[in-house]
Amino acid sequence: MSRPRFIDPFQPAEVRRLVREFGSPLMILDCERVRVQFRKLRKALPRVDLHYALKPMPHPAVVRTVIAEGGYLDLATSGEVQLVRDLGVAPERCIHTHPIKRTADIANALEYGMRTFVADNPDEVRKFAHLRGDVELLLRVSFRAPGAVCDLSRKFGCDPEDLLPLARLAADLGIALRGLSFHVGSQVADATKHVEALKACAKLMAAARREKLGTLDTLDIGGGFPIDYAQPVQDIGRFCAPLRAALAKLPRRVRVIAEPGRYIVGPAAIGVASVMGRARREGHWWYYLDDGLYGSFSGQLFDHARYPVEPLRASPERLPSVLAGPTCDSIDVIAENLMLPQLKAGDLLVGRAMGAYTWASASEFNFYPRATVVAVNADPGDTGSVSALPL
Ligand SMILES: *Cc1c(COP(=O)(O)O)cnc(C)c1O
Repeated sequence: MSRPRFIDPFQPAEVRRLVREFGSPLMILDCERVRVQFRKLRKALPRVDLHYALKPMPHPAVVRTVIAEGGYLDLATSGEVQLVRDLGVAPERCIHTHPIKRTADIANALEYGMRTFVADNPDEVRKFAHLRGDVELLLRVSFRAPGAVCDLSRKFGCDPEDLLPLARLAADLGIALRGLSFHVGSQVADATKHVEALKACAKLMAAARREKLGTLDTLDIGGGFPIDYAQPVQDIGRFCAPLRAALAKLPRRVRVIAEPGRYIVGPAAIGVASVMGRARREGHWWYYLDDGLYGSFSGQLFDHARYPVEPLRASPERLPSVLAGPTCDSIDVIAENLMLPQLKAGDLLVGRAMGAYTWASASEFNFYPRATVVAVNADPGDTGSVSALPL
């Protein structure tokens, strides 16, 4: 029996081969890297159950890989529920974390078999009154993180001082109160906010238990774990060290879960785009790619990320150049003053760390199709496998 060849999909020869087979633009998703990321985070946060948040890269290959690693999922929309359901994932491995849901969203998740939902205000808690017995709630608490690139506590979560009244409402309605959750933001520089929120939630959970408002045996510490882009960040072991110390002080009966998104998929994909054409303008080369700000590079706008972009062609001679997207909109410029060798139509460019909040937020403006996602090394027993999975 021949051992399957391990594919390093980020090697130039492999990138060229995949573009020949699947076309351009591509998003090459390495499931082996998803596994590595998942295991690194699990090691950095032992005894924390990791619920992969689908939002940054809602792709079947990532879901399958996380589930095969023994992970769990964090779903927020009916579309995500449908995707996971179609893959045959056990609903017990999923929680629904959108604090604001339509009746149909709740019904879809319940019909699939999910039980755990998140609420952060009285109206939303009341949506579960007639479902008591079938559901359990996590109440989301807000802790502002002005330092985070995306401060998600502004949009969702109740103030800590409103938590006990909200918990009393749930208890009065007979709804099982399972615990608390928070999400301090994304790509945070250090775990200070996580630790602060964790300590505050531990106190609130103890207070709610004293009032016998529910079992309160689950704490969801959200996502936000950072990855390297152009700027390197703390290694995940170091990042999580203060969190581990704080977690060790929680009562043993508390089950802790986390909702990592970016950390699991960000480094696991590269974006590949081709030069469609070029022009010399005001003394500089402009290269027009078949992917741009309306496509996989949408994360530069929505996620405030800067992806390291490199040409596949190696050359020591470089000139300050402009990389533009394909659309007819003038804001569709990926980078200016990027040092590049002289390129021509057909040359490939690779953007690294493009797995999270890139393809997921891409549009098809001007009828430029979104990049094709090619998942490689999908099966741990057969690391040579390549497939372009339709969504
Ligand atoms: C987006 C989101 C996540 C994932 O956040 P990352 O910063 O990508 O880890 C987790 N939880 C909730 C509620 C989210 O909205």
